[in-house]
Amino acid sequence: MANRTNREILFKSRPAGMPSPANFELVEKPVPTPGAGEILVRNSYMSVDPYMRGRMTDRASYVDGFKIGEVLSGGAVGQVVESNNDKFKPGDYVSHFGGWREWYLTSGADCQKIDPSLAPLSAWLGTFGMPGLTAYAGLIDVGQLKDGERVFVSAASGAVGAVVCQIAKNKGCYVVGSAGSDDKCKWLKDVARCDEVINYKTCGDLTAAVRKAFPQGIDVYFENVGGEHLDAALANMRQNGRIPVCGMISQYNDTTPPPGPRNIIMTVPLRLMIKGFIVSDHANLMPAFIADMGRWAKEGKMKWHETIVDGVDKAPDAFIGLFKGANFGKMIVRVGPDKAV
Ligand code: NDP
Repeated sequence: MANRTNREILFKSRPAGMPSPANFELVEKPVPTPGAGEILVRNSYMSVDPYMRGRMTDRASYVDGFKIGEVLSGGAVGQVVESNNDKFKPGDYVSHFGGWREWYLTSGADCQKIDPSLAPLSAWLGTFGMPGLTAYAGLIDVGQLKDGERVFVSAASGAVGAVVCQIAKNKGCYVVGSAGSDDKCKWLKDVARCDEVINYKTCGDLTAAVRKAFPQGIDVYFENVGGEHLDAALANMRQNGRIPVCGMISQYNDTTPPPGPRNIIMTVPLRLMIKGFIVSDHANLMPAFIADMGRWAKEGKMKWHETIVDGVDKAPDAFIGLFKGANFGKMIVRVGPDKAV
């Protein structure tokens, strides 16, 4: 393999505010040769995710920060091409954390075998992967969803949000999703089966739009966005409502502390529960998640949309696009063929 090239993306500098292409660098190296116990994976798809923005900031967090000058990492799927590890054989499909590169040399300790007959390879980075499990854990475990409740979802057409909407529909809930374009809203209504949709960019007063969609109030607000969305949800919650806080993407590039939420006082009279969570704390749900998702997908009750960008060199633009709503569904970068052996 020494005469073949592995293109990788290095973390060149820390972004201040919105990331830019100058924060990344494309480098070419020879494809590595696996040593004793190692495997070589040809990556097919890699994921770009909003949480990676946090890893680009120099502060302690639940996951280690990226180091300047190192290859970035993140979720990816691919096929084992060479193996010196008894647990894997050439042809096996695996998901792992060696993204942002075309070829990945690993001991295999971070690799999980995946079954491409259950869902297409790219879906293991979205609906059937980390974002899907985030939706499942956040809604069912953290949000304590009960059948038939009223559920509001922000960033609803995205990787996490679209799964949240459909799980809630599968549990007989009334579901309203908010998204940033008419196309996304149409998909949410026509395909993801949302009862109502809100284009937060064109609706005017978001609190009033949420009130109109929830005349009886919200039981569960699945928080992906923060800021004005959280204010609007707090103003419309029902007694004993729950707010699983998955993320607040509207604030990830802020350079000054954000205001609010202005109406956090609503937690008291309404006895609200607001709880942040991290998907990796809910890995025990994986078997139930895969079983439920497989069943729902077979029954036509779990659909997904993807934005697939071609080429590892386009990964920085794809990542930056997440903060501008450039993705419709899961943002994925194709970095190699589906089949390598
Ligand atoms: P998405 O696929 O939803 O992509 C991001 C979307 O967020 C964009 O397409 C855009 O959609 C929306 N968005 C971006 N900026 C803003 C803004 N300023 N205001 C409102 N909406 C905005 O991403 P994911 O589904 O992967 O992630 C969704 C959330 O879940 C994020 O907050 C992420 O950090 C969080 N997350 C948390 C995890 C955890 O363990 N807690 C794990 C995984 C994700 P639109 O066009 O609709 O504006």
